[in-house]
Amino acid sequence: MNSGPRQESGIVYLVGAGPGDPGLVTVRGMECLQRAQVVIYDYLANQALVHYAPAGAELLYAGKVGGRHNQEQDDINRLLIEKARAGKVVVRLKGGDPFIFGRGGEECQALAAAGIPFEVVPGITAAAGAAACAGIPLTHRRYTPSVAFVTGHEDAQKETSAIDWPRLSTGSGTIVFYMGMTRLRSNMAQLVAHGRAPQTSVALVRWATTPQQQVLTGTLADIADRAEAAGFKPPALIIVGEVVGLRGQLAWFDRRPLFGKRIMVTRAADQAGEFSHLLEQRGAAVVECPTIALVPPDSWDELDAAIADLAAYDWLILTSANGVRFFFERLREQGRDSRSLGRCKVCVVGPKTAELVQAQGIVPDLVPEQFTAEGVVAAFGRVGVAGKRVLFPRAEGAREVIMTELARRGATVSAPVTYCSRLPEHLTETALTALTERQLDVITFSASSTVRNLAALVGGAERLAELLEGVVVASIGPITTKTCHELGLHVTVEPRHATLADLTAALEQHFSR
Ligand code: SAH
Repeated sequence: MNSGPRQESGIVYLVGAGPGDPGLVTVRGMECLQRAQVVIYDYLANQALVHYAPAGAELLYAGKVGGRHNQEQDDINRLLIEKARAGKVVVRLKGGDPFIFGRGGEECQALAAAGIPFEVVPGITAAAGAAACAGIPLTHRRYTPSVAFVTGHEDAQKETSAIDWPRLSTGSGTIVFYMGMTRLRSNMAQLVAHGRAPQTSVALVRWATTPQQQVLTGTLADIADRAEAAGFKPPALIIVGEVVGLRGQLAWFDRRPLFGKRIMVTRAADQAGEFSHLLEQRGAAVVECPTIALVPPDSWDELDAAIADLAAYDWLILTSANGVRFFFERLREQGRDSRSLGRCKVCVVGPKTAELVQAQGIVPDLVPEQFTAEGVVAAFGRVGVAGKRVLFPRAEGAREVIMTELARRGATVSAPVTYCSRLPEHLTETALTALTERQLDVITFSASSTVRNLAALVGGAERLAELLEGVVVASIGPITTKTCHELGLHVTVEPRHATLADLTAALEQHFSR
């Protein structure tokens, strides 16, 4: 990225954050965020994106909620100039596209006048996002060749309208109003007064592209009443035109089985991401609730000794993603890498651990058919381990199955503790609120410890059962399910294979029934 002719004066990137779903920012917008020193962001820019800025970047909120300006536009302009003059890489993160009703034009003018270098990174505007996710193509060869983007929130002081209502009403097949909700009734009435048929279809799309998306449809004649009756609130777009009728056939986003379901993920803080992502891709609103804190063992001595002698082992067994991560981190800290394994073969417990060791440049030699400790033992039953030296870096308190069964089959097993799970000090605010205010549709457990720890964190098994009344309990596999039962929880969803992908699929199946 070229930072312009005046490097020393910093630069401002006006970045379109997209309509809501953080996945809908552009690659270029993401690049800018990842090298930002200052991020100045708006209410409508998804705040999850802000966290892609490097640690230590200055994050400043310049939000405006429905016209209540937390900070006047002039202040924002001044702030942009001040930060750039201090030599900073500034990202001005704006909802949707910076140049569509985003006052990006004004900000750029201020920068240009001050001689500050700037670049504009376009974003997916709310109309495009809403169209895609409500199943309403804004143009369509059979229906209309034109679309107009209009502000529905004209300056009330204006004597004459800047909007040419007669031309707009009949001139554009599709009309999209931004910021139009507070004047919904009068905007719709204007269109009818100027010649648009009262029966023309209208859709309101709120929080488009997110798990909170809501769509309400009607006609120019009745949409204001319907919105009132439904208590439909901003931020929303108003889409007017025949194309709205296509939604009946094309809606896909809100018909996904997990759409809008609030699902609690109880994994360790540094592991939740991947599972959350799987669920979010299917439309769920995920609430992360870390129930495990992972820490290194009290002493590395045993593992270090094994690492120093790695090539003397016949097998390395890794049965968890954390095991893989902690093992290879320690290996690197000891100034080594996977080459130290020499002829030592590698067994992993399942596809996820396989993927993680592959990322270390290792093709696993053995993956059991059943992704459990018993599966590992069975797999070794087939290849044979008598007389072999086995290294099994494990979690503190891990089940003994692998150690005892492989020893029984004649292997010499060394099983150094490689990481420990601890109970976090408390629940996060968001998790606690979701539980106590009964916001959840589903809670997922991916290990026995997540169930036990959550019970401990809320003040006991009885309290947990009470908080989860009416919530679908999903468990990754039989062992976790057994723990749920012991603590008085009724498990409704359990996949055939104990993987997060299978758990996700099982949830989809549950809700499509
Ligand atoms: N620059 C932005 C628009 C800013 S104006 C863009 O290109 O999208 C703010 C208006 O955009 C809101 O009043 C609302 O009408 C609309 N809007 C923004 N995000 C939205 C979303 N996720 N869902 C529905 N409407 C949205």
